[in-house]
Amino acid sequence: MTVSREDELFEIDMELLKLLDERIQKGAIARHDVDEAAYIQKLTSIYDGAAPGELVEKLIQSLFNESGKGRDHGAERRMLYSRESKRSDTIVEVNGHEIGGPGTVNIFGPCAVESYRQTAEVAAMLKEKGLGIIRGGAYKPRTSPYDFQGLGEEGLRILSRIREEYGLAVISEITAPGHVELARPHLDIFQIGARNMQNFELLKAVGRSQTPVLLKRGLSATVEEFLYAAEYILAEGNPRVILCERGIRTYEKSTRNTLDISAVPLLKQATHLPVMVDVTHSTGRKEIMAECAKAALAAGADGIMAEVHPEPDAALSDSKQQMSFTEFEDFYTNLP
Ligand code: PEP
Ligand code: MN
Repeated sequence: MTVSREDELFEIDMELLKLLDERIQKGAIARHDVDEAAYIQKLTSIYDGAAPGELVEKLIQSLFNESGKGRDHGAERRMLYSRESKRSDTIVEVNGHEIGGPGTVNIFGPCAVESYRQTAEVAAMLKEKGLGIIRGGAYKPRTSPYDFQGLGEEGLRILSRIREEYGLAVISEITAPGHVELARPHLDIFQIGARNMQNFELLKAVGRSQTPVLLKRGLSATVEEFLYAAEYILAEGNPRVILCERGIRTYEKSTRNTLDISAVPLLKQATHLPVMVDVTHSTGRKEIMAECAKAALAAGADGIMAEVHPEPDAALSDSKQQMSFTEFEDFYTNLP
């Protein structure tokens, strides 16, 4: 029986793969103790076979890289948020709305749930426009402990009622791991606020649920830190994560925070997760919100978050930056 060239090659490659097995096992242990550059240099200077030095160098370097993966180097690990882990865009489905899908999905509503009536007025207005999701804080992380802290559980119950009566999905911030179980029956999306972006126990707690999570960028968080925070949620097994750019702290005082538009394409390139932009907390300026929302969408954002209140002047929080219904009408009809 004659052995074909292909069979011959196959046998050699199988031998190579067996050696590769051994190489990977040993290499994984050796990586920390070896000066890779010096090692490869020594190898190529001694080796005088048929393979070009460049190939030998490339081959051995790629083996080193491979054997280091999955060990204790955070930076070398393949992150679940990354496009290398998952190429296709993640779509977070909420009540029939596909966040991260081909269309834009926006989230509007008051800063805080203040009463059933106030929230219901906003819900009715949003529903009339065909919008499907309402926001409203039940737990408000305020700078001063003397400011309105939110209605807490009562606020969650109001949101539940709104959901039932208006058929809208509801999103609200939770601020402690203990809120996960309590809030789960009332909410369609958990919001993690900027101040809690690195509250790792909270991130792990929402990661153990399967409820969608909207994670806001921290006040002074880099894009990298933001992504690592998302990784905490994904690593616990919850793939339904939405990122939200909401402005960062800079020296600029003319806006409440500095809206980092560049973060949008950076995030879209680095991760498969949906990216939204909150134009209310980033700018704090109603007169530029529409333009900033357009810029965010042009940069690739999957949706916009903004605050609207039936009577902003009487609002218990963020009264200067919440839009009235008339202002909202103007803002909304200006969105592409
Ligand atoms: C909010 O959206 O209600 C809020 C408090 O925003 P941030 O966490 O971005 O400050
Ligand atoms: Mn607010």
